[in-house]
Amino acid sequence: MRKLLLCLLAIVPALLPGLLFAQRTLLYCGKLIDPKAGQVLTEMTVIVTGNSVTAVQKGYATAAASDRVIDLKNLTVMPGLIDSHVHLEDQFSANTQLKGFTMNEADIAFQSTVYAKTTLMAGFTTVRDVGGTGVNISLRNAINKGLVAGPHMYTAGKIISSTGGHGDPTHGYREGLYAEPSYTETVADGVDACIKAVRQMYKEGADLIKITASGGVLSLEKDGLGAQFSDEELHAIVQTAKDYGMAVAAHAHGAEAIKRAIRAGVTSIEHGTFMDDEAIALFKKYGTWYVPTIIAGKSVADSAKIPGFFPPVIAGKALAVGPIIQGTFAKAYKAGVKIAFGTDAGVYAHGKNWMEFVYMTEAGMPPLEAIKCATVNAAELIGISDKAGTLEPGKWADIVAVEGDPTQDIHAMGKMRFVMKEGKVYLRTEDVILGNVTEVQPPVVQE
Ligand SMILES: [Zn+2]
Repeated sequence: MRKLLLCLLAIVPALLPGLLFAQRTLLYCGKLIDPKAGQVLTEMTVIVTGNSVTAVQKGYATAAASDRVIDLKNLTVMPGLIDSHVHLEDQFSANTQLKGFTMNEADIAFQSTVYAKTTLMAGFTTVRDVGGTGVNISLRNAINKGLVAGPHMYTAGKIISSTGGHGDPTHGYREGLYAEPSYTETVADGVDACIKAVRQMYKEGADLIKITASGGVLSLEKDGLGAQFSDEELHAIVQTAKDYGMAVAAHAHGAEAIKRAIRAGVTSIEHGTFMDDEAIALFKKYGTWYVPTIIAGKSVADSAKIPGFFPPVIAGKALAVGPIIQGTFAKAYKAGVKIAFGTDAGVYAHGKNWMEFVYMTEAGMPPLEAIKCATVNAAELIGISDKAGTLEPGKWADIVAVEGDPTQDIHAMGKMRFVMKEGKVYLRTEDVILGNVTEVQPPVVQE
């Protein structure tokens, strides 16, 4: 009891400044990337009050006694990064097919908290989770409640797929292992079932809808490219999602599936591997976003070279699809297709999301443009431009800093040294100096 009292007495003065007035945090930025203007500014101060940015100004502003100062003079600072294509529940491995039979939802939930934290520590302060078992909805809720350290999360819940499609979780398994999936697993055929599946996801708490418009690589189906929904089904999905205020993200590799999905009005095409010139013209006509996931393609192609890593049906598709995406990205970028950064994290190891920047720049995109895809553009795709994507007064204080200058060497994106989400510091390496005073213990993550 006495111990508890002493503890409380120690905490109260530390909390007082925050209770009496909102403490300001001054971040001194040696270099500050403004992805919207496509500029690297030098010697700037970002001022944070509470959970949002209140000012961005030239020079190192003088701190008042009550201010907290964070010295990032040796680093390059930028808005928190956004990955528009992740799967936080799991991480692909050679025994992935077995996991469906050995892991309960609670097991998935626990491991998802680790991947969420890893993602945040890599500088990704916002993600769009495009499908899992539905545990991702609970993960988002836990992050929002402050129970789990993770990025802002917008989730699709479960993937809507046709029977036998890429998102049908029972495809490829022997009869009797699974009950026949229904709309609650969001396997849907025909207009009515598609409408119901969208409404079901809305009911379960999804923020957006994810569909598998074509076959895919990592499922046990033989065709990774073909269209898997009819025009009528796609229109029903998009229209219903619109009614409920949700965007539709369409996984699609083959050209026909890409075109059908764009014409139906989906918000984004994921992967887009075999888009042809007609598809590119449609992207531009409809203003559809392209989310490339180059790293996923490279990663599955690499794994496919390890004998026995994938079942043969998957290995063949991985080798055929994986290496193509980077070239597709280059073509789409040159043609002026709208691109939002997305990686398919979970297909490769969480936390390596930054490698996508390397692959994007290898394919001809300038570093500042790649960073814009992961900030301004991804925020626009998700529909949160008023909160994220740039550092401007009123927006979330989601601020990250790397060692080096990514506009000189893009590998700097892998040297994350500082992560702040909504004004709270989650990662701070020894290069980062905290000054002035009333610093309440840096709340490095609630675990
Ligand atoms: Zn994916």
